[in-house]
Amino acid sequence: MPGSSSLDPLSFSPLDPRGPYGESVRVRVLVQGIVQGVGFRPFVYGLANRLALGGFVRNDPGGVTIEVEGAPPAIDAFLRDLVEAAPPLARIERVSSEFATPLGEKAFSIVASEGSGTGWLALVSPDVATCGDCLAEIRDPAARRYGYPFTNCTNCGPRFTITTDIPYDRPNTTMAGFPMCEACRAEYRDPGDRRFHAQPIACPACGPAVALAGTGPGEALGACADLLRSGSIVALKGLGGYHLVCDARNEKAVGELRARKVREDKPFALMASDVGVVQQICEVSDHEAALLSGYRRPVVLLRRRAGAEGAVAASVAPGNRFLGFMLPYTPLHHLLLDAFDASGPAGGVLVMTSGNRSDEPIAYVDDDARQRLDPIADVFVTHNRPIHIRCDDSVTRSFRGEEYLMRRSRGYAPEPLLVTEAFGSPVLATGAELKHTFCLGSGTRAFLSHHIGDLENWETMRSFIEGVAHFCNVFQIRPRVIAHDLHPDYLATKWALDQAAGDAAPPAGVELEGCEPIGVQHHHAHIAACLADNQVAGPVIGLALDGTGWGTDGTIWGGEVLVADLAGFRRAGHLRRVALPGGAAAIREPWRTGATYLREAFGTEAADLSLPFVRDHAGRWGPVLEMAAKGINAPLTSSAGRLFDAAAAVAGLRGRVNYEGQAAIELEQVADPDEPSAYPCPVEDRDGVLVIDGVGLIRALVEDLVSGAPLPSAAARFHNGLASALVETCGRVRAATGLGEVALSGGTFQNLLLLERVMYGLESAGFGVYRHRRVPANDGGISLGQAVVAGAVLRLA
Ligand SMILES: [Zn+2]
Ligand SMILES: [Zn+2]
Repeated sequence: MPGSSSLDPLSFSPLDPRGPYGESVRVRVLVQGIVQGVGFRPFVYGLANRLALGGFVRNDPGGVTIEVEGAPPAIDAFLRDLVEAAPPLARIERVSSEFATPLGEKAFSIVASEGSGTGWLALVSPDVATCGDCLAEIRDPAARRYGYPFTNCTNCGPRFTITTDIPYDRPNTTMAGFPMCEACRAEYRDPGDRRFHAQPIACPACGPAVALAGTGPGEALGACADLLRSGSIVALKGLGGYHLVCDARNEKAVGELRARKVREDKPFALMASDVGVVQQICEVSDHEAALLSGYRRPVVLLRRRAGAEGAVAASVAPGNRFLGFMLPYTPLHHLLLDAFDASGPAGGVLVMTSGNRSDEPIAYVDDDARQRLDPIADVFVTHNRPIHIRCDDSVTRSFRGEEYLMRRSRGYAPEPLLVTEAFGSPVLATGAELKHTFCLGSGTRAFLSHHIGDLENWETMRSFIEGVAHFCNVFQIRPRVIAHDLHPDYLATKWALDQAAGDAAPPAGVELEGCEPIGVQHHHAHIAACLADNQVAGPVIGLALDGTGWGTDGTIWGGEVLVADLAGFRRAGHLRRVALPGGAAAIREPWRTGATYLREAFGTEAADLSLPFVRDHAGRWGPVLEMAAKGINAPLTSSAGRLFDAAAAVAGLRGRVNYEGQAAIELEQVADPDEPSAYPCPVEDRDGVLVIDGVGLIRALVEDLVSGAPLPSAAARFHNGLASALVETCGRVRAATGLGEVALSGGTFQNLLLLERVMYGLESAGFGVYRHRRVPANDGGISLGQAVVAGAVLRLA
């Protein structure tokens, strides 16, 4: 009977070089993870041939199965390199091996898969940016794919956005309608070719083509570049949807795009041909350069270079010290930038913003795009490869030399996140409302969806439901549990409860009736998401700071200190509650919250303060303060987002916002990072709950401003004061509980000045600190938190 061994993918005990079978041994290996559609079989084929091993490799429902036969030292080398030299896009989760009976096989081959359809648990890869080899081909006049916008290979190209079904084979992608030509078929069948079994393989003879009305074959991108040079706004079909594109240095074009898109201040993303161009406009660290040019190709938020303020039109990102840049991620984008640079001065920069109007989801179906984007775009540049799943660009930034994601979508989704404890039953977590994502949990994997958008209209709701159906199908998951937010008015909460009760039509092909609903408090979900992101289980002290979330006491939470593990939490502290006059109106008009805080801090003397904010608003704040005093349409909130709004408002930065979090972002940006002092922010114990006095913080801010403090110093002292109050609170919770680790989550922690100050304070006080890395701190990470909480609750049941 052969022996058996289970190999850890990163370190394994080598086989005994003498081997139980003398000269030759045979080993059967199963590799799990993202190992299909990423060039894994040709890699194994090459490795086995190099080591003169016999046997075979094939794709199986559970991953890739390999049998290798040969001298024990060569088998050792094979098992080591299988992991260490794996193709760049492979994500190996697990390698297991056992001895098999030697067959005397000398040759190695790639063999066909056994069976298909049901039971396939192969993982769909995210879309991958054009590789260096393909980029060289499209720029090589002698290559047959010269200038071809849909060039790809097993190391790059579309995956998630074109996959319609499993297994991942060409008929189950949106390339099904493009029969391969003979030349492509030969490459597809050749194990030595970079395009061996590259499902989206294509060339000018057989693949999709770009179209622009009035131009001939191969002329569309050149004509598009000329139109952009002359100031046109182009609706461009890309990988995961349509972009609206214009020349980023043309103020008239960018301003016109803003007006037509009905988007007042929110920054536009930019695309440049390479890191060198970006470096002329922004500060780019080595880590940021790596993020920009990596195969995921997110939008990277970068600080503008001093003196380069005029490098792009002012209306690209009004009043913002940062710009969001990405590099081309498909041949189409590379070729467009090449043509754009050829049509005018080199180093061109294009605005590349989501193809939508205002808050709608990004357009990706041609007819719908024609209709919705017609009032915005001067011209449409499309192509005939359908997009199956809409997928927005991801947004990220660098923090302390590591990635800190803001939006996890194209290039990242649907790559699973491994969790520390397996889900007992498959879980569907339905997320929150803004920046919505959903999450499926099964086994040790959490499949966090692409960015869906703000679940405030039917279009986004439909995108969510279709996404659930698609994920359940391609990952073969039948949820038995539905996790949801506690907010009764969130569309995702209502939908989850209706599904569980069988009161609404289920997503296509998915049965959700009878699923066990599990409600998860919003800020508990944030902390759980941070724990899952760091692959730990707690218990920890959780600081969850954000705009708003439904509390367990009927008030709106958002500045929370929790003692939490995955299964539960206790509210150990929170920001002092204030009224939110007008509810949602207060979120759009921070001056309302500013007025409430001023009244709390100074009483009726607030109206006498010598402050521009008072001059501008005291005349109209009477009714607002009356609402707050009487509690009419003025819910109480401990929200950190609203505290920042109030600070920005009273500092005179902004009385109204045009997008969520704008006031807080501007307060962060104006703050002097070198300012050391901090405003006092008392922390009081009220019946065992610590209350952090944000009102005291606002009082100190206002007194400082009235006595003439410069705004950058005052804004920094505000940040520093809040940070030290949070650190002090954690210290008091540690004294009471013995917990020495803190998890930081919630959208307010996208404020990197606050994040840095809080982390520095906690680390100086000897705390271990967890912060987000792979999953956003904002509500885009909530569904992951819901899923792991539901998993933990079920384990206790
Ligand atoms: Zn390639
Ligand atoms: Zn072809």
